[in-house]
Amino acid sequence: MQYFSQEITRRTAMQRIFGAITAVGASSFLTFEDLLAADAATIKPLNVVWIHGTSCTGCSCSLLDVETVPVVDILTKFTNMIFHHDISLATGSQVTDIYEKLIHSDSSIPYVIVFEGGIPIGMPHTCMVGHRTMEDWMKQLLPKAAACIAAGTCASFGGVTEMLGTETGNASVLRFAHQNGITTPIVLLPGCPMKPEHFVYTLLYHLHHKKLPDLDRYGRPRRFFSRTVHELCINYADFQEGHFAQHIGDQGCLIKMGCQGMVTRSDCLITGYNNNTNVCIRAGHPCVGCAGENFPRRFMFHNYDDTRDIIPRRP
Ligand code: SF4
Ligand code: SF4
Repeated sequence: MQYFSQEITRRTAMQRIFGAITAVGASSFLTFEDLLAADAATIKPLNVVWIHGTSCTGCSCSLLDVETVPVVDILTKFTNMIFHHDISLATGSQVTDIYEKLIHSDSSIPYVIVFEGGIPIGMPHTCMVGHRTMEDWMKQLLPKAAACIAAGTCASFGGVTEMLGTETGNASVLRFAHQNGITTPIVLLPGCPMKPEHFVYTLLYHLHHKKLPDLDRYGRPRRFFSRTVHELCINYADFQEGHFAQHIGDQGCLIKMGCQGMVTRSDCLITGYNNNTNVCIRAGHPCVGCAGENFPRRFMFHNYDDTRDIIPRRP
């Protein structure tokens, strides 16, 4: 098997996936043998249609940049990626044909929607596909889906696309479903962007167990969102001792810099970004609550006085 220029065996690939799952503390739910079983030819890949609303595409980039898991496997072995706005070749009427086929199929094509971004209710002419609004498509596609994964904070809670001052009149998938009486199970994977490990875990868990992982009251996997950033923080001892950073770069708890770790649920201090290279607090920056229900609010951002001059690159 060849992934780009690197020759690796299927077993090695599976071991890497298991390594990623172990890294996020999920191995007690899914063993390496489970994964190998999930890889058996008898397991049918999940039909996935990945839809973008008002999004920056950051969550897709996050998934496609995943390092511990061969993304080619995610796209070709574990999922049958029916359509993805960024990587599919289909355009124009080919896309609307796919959507129509899903809408008018009986249950013979069970599919999962991964939705990224928000649904622009107040600005319906954005995100139109084939002269039909995203709201219109989702009213038909979402009820027929076996499940929906809300990728990132915008799809989960509104996020940046629903922040004060925006004019899109955005709805998160969760709010959209609630307002339209749609009962399709929705898994929220908030984070700005979504962590690819959260997606891979949810996907493989579903493939193996034929059901969604244990979810909290919003629909977030408890495995990743049961504890606050604060509970897991490397600065927790400083918080207890009353050692507080006054400026970016200082040692100590960042609460006086506006840290939102106490009110934000995510496993960031266990699983950072870019193959766990780093994450905000480890880099010395307060948590701005990007995975939270209220992100973003003005008070979440720098309440320190950054007076550095921005030096233009060219005079
Ligand atoms: S830096 Fe933030 S998350 Fe960490 S201990 Fe302080 S308040 Fe809590
Ligand atoms: S530490 Fe806070 S702001 Fe940083 S990624 Fe985690 S939830 Fe988002």
